[in-house]
Amino acid sequence: MKVPFSYLERQFADVDAYLEEIRSVVTQGDFTLGRAVSEFESRFADISGIEHAVSVGSGTDAIALSLHALGIGPGDEVITAANTFIATVGAIVQLHARPVFVDSEDGFVIDCNKIEAAITPRTRAIVPVHYTGNLADMPRVMELARLHDLVVVEDACQAIGGTLGDKPAGTWGAAAAFSLHPLKNLNVWGDAGVIVTRSVQLAARLRLLRNHGLVNRDEVVMYGWNSRLDTIQAAVGNRLIGETAFITSRRIDVAARYDAAFADVTGISVPRRRPGVKHVYHLYVLRVERRDELVAYLHEAGIEAKIHYPVPMHLQPAARELGYREGDFPVAEADARSVITLPAHQHLSDEEVDYTIEKTRAFFNEF
Ligand SMILES: *Cc1c(COP(=O)(O)O)cnc(C)c1O
Repeated sequence: MKVPFSYLERQFADVDAYLEEIRSVVTQGDFTLGRAVSEFESRFADISGIEHAVSVGSGTDAIALSLHALGIGPGDEVITAANTFIATVGAIVQLHARPVFVDSEDGFVIDCNKIEAAITPRTRAIVPVHYTGNLADMPRVMELARLHDLVVVEDACQAIGGTLGDKPAGTWGAAAAFSLHPLKNLNVWGDAGVIVTRSVQLAARLRLLRNHGLVNRDEVVMYGWNSRLDTIQAAVGNRLIGETAFITSRRIDVAARYDAAFADVTGISVPRRRPGVKHVYHLYVLRVERRDELVAYLHEAGIEAKIHYPVPMHLQPAARELGYREGDFPVAEADARSVITLPAHQHLSDEEVDYTIEKTRAFFNEF
């Protein structure tokens, strides 16, 4: 049996329905900030439980533009997680700000007990990452931000549909970034991102910044970027956005089956699931012994397991100038050596989930 990591082939099996939507964009020549874009923004704001959604060119731009609009720039320090996807860090560096890393806790998100030690007089912002679709401890992050007068931009790129105590991901910070990259829970056919915010002023500023700072065709009030959601992608998004609840609940269902099946296996450590968090499992990640052997064994069995990620951010060659060393973030480093991601997407059949469970258990029980 083959258990694919990507669901794209299954998700877009009915490609004609999508192509029909795109046809109407093309025949109307409605390419730049077209009607489908504003429709998508208002639907995205609705499902995110927040007032304003401003679509942009990517999740990376969503983080960078949010920080930029909030005044973060050269020389400012921005605290984020050592364990994240490179885009979080790249977005900070793009503004000539300095990323300052903090170690992870058991659920792969930033350890709030270690944030204060990373704050200096130059710290301006915190970018917590809702990594894997788990939520960072946002009440604590917001309390620390308030005490130290810092702005918060949530990297919610992996967390659409997630909540903490009924409050949705993206509704704590001044702004939050989502990604619609093809491998994200809600996705389109290329790069795209969304910023959400409660502030009408910030939303207006972001709308200017993503489109060259133009208030109209002839007047530029501030220098901006070219980072718009493509109207064709918005048309894809509008078709798919109605499936978000199904996508989320099926992933949670698959993860619950895995959690139960692996709880008693020596060699597997299921991360602690924090009460009150609706974890949406963009990634289903376990800590395991003999990780590389297990990955090879599962690949041999047709199960497309992955590693997110083998090298934490502070040990990447690009981070050399930041001056971090091995040993600085022991949890993130130990995780990099032991994590494995199992396919857990919404288009897996029960048989595929059972097969993945059977093979993973067999590795530890038989070898
Ligand atoms: C995907 C992702 C991003 C960036 O999104 P893109 O749309 O690929 O630019 C940022 N942060 C995290 C944690 C992500 O997973």
